Amino acid sequence: MEQISFFSLLKNPAKKNSFNCFIYKDTPVFILRRAYQRSLNLRVEKNARLQINCSLSTSLKEITAFLEEHWTWIQKQISEQKKLIKKYPPKKWREGENFLFQGQNFILKYKFLKNQTLNKVGFHFLHSKKTLIYYWKKPDDLNSNILKKELISVYKKEGEKSLRKAVHHYSSLMRLFPKVVRVSSAKSLWGSCSSDKSLSLNWRLVAAPPSVLNYVVIHELAHLKYLNHSPDFWSLVSHFCQKYKEQEIWLKKNAYAMDFLLLHSELH
Ligand SMILES: [Zn+2]
Repeated sequence: MEQISFFSLLKNPAKKNSFNCFIYKDTPVFILRRAYQRSLNLRVEKNARLQINCSLSTSLKEITAFLEEHWTWIQKQISEQKKLIKKYPPKKWREGENFLFQGQNFILKYKFLKNQTLNKVGFHFLHSKKTLIYYWKKPDDLNSNILKKELISVYKKEGEKSLRKAVHHYSSLMRLFPKVVRVSSAKSLWGSCSSDKSLSLNWRLVAAPPSVLNYVVIHELAHLKYLNHSPDFWSLVSHFCQKYKEQEIWLKKNAYAMDFLLLHSELH
């Protein structure tokens, strides 16, 4: 049988936007009631939280009926999100921890700067040893917030370098030249192309294998010719990236592998 307990004033729907929570079958359900919301919709957030958006007048009966109807799907979504959260735990900044860069794992190492110049403090990729070294001088340099900001800044710099290089290379090959190339920090969009011929490309792609980054660049450059996903568009993409489907699959499967590069992770 259903188990419902209340933390809220659900019996008396709110007069203005409100946020409540109740437990349904041992699962917390967050309800956001909004004046302009017409339909009832449900989503499993990236942190595995279940949220319902509905109007101010939606009854509890309607909400529970909706939950009951979609319960199997909801449980599957929650369990998949929980698996992702486990697979990509927050970084602990311990030596030996792995960091994905250009599709490969780099192992974190710390090095104390004794009598050297301060400007070396920060992360450096040592490609020959697949190591990510963090040089530090004072204990404050090891604060996890500082480490995260430093990490983001070094990935961003490397990302911009790789993207601009790839755009330069494929622009000449494809004879397609964007007016502007912006390096973006979007949360879930890897790239975009607008009708004014400006490209936007996400620096976090530098964590992915170079073939994936190249594919996104080719895809967006191809939009300079076809601002759609027509067969002609895909034929142009496949001419320069034959295995584009593999790259798309990698991006879909590993979208969260780049989550550690968000200042506020979506999973935690
Ligand atoms: Zn596209």
